[in-house]
Amino acid sequence: MNLAYAPTDYDGLAAALQGFFEDALKVPGPPRPPLSLAHEMWITRLSELDELLSVDSAAARDLDEADVRGLALYRRERQKVLSQHESCGKCGSVYRRGGFCPRGCRG
Ligand SMILES: [Zn+2]
Repeated sequence: MNLAYAPTDYDGLAAALQGFFEDALKVPGPPRPPLSLAHEMWITRLSELDELLSVDSAAARDLDEADVRGLALYRRERQKVLSQHESCGKCGSVYRRGGFCPRGCRG
């Protein structure tokens, strides 16, 4: 990662990623705090790396330790948010797995 410092706040990144993926899925709930610029830049880089590696897995050899660790966290948090939620078969609204559609649709 070509930044003047190596990012090391992985706990902060995990929390930011959870909010990022919940926003992306449009998970209902109280408003989530906006991402800090540092987390936004970090997550943008990890998103780009994830996409790059999906088409060119050999690019993984160029990753440094911060990228590898960040990417693992990115993928873990994405999977966690995806596994905790499901979408309504009628309207597509997203809600916590095992719950009910927030729009009141009934199976
Ligand atoms: Zn619904």
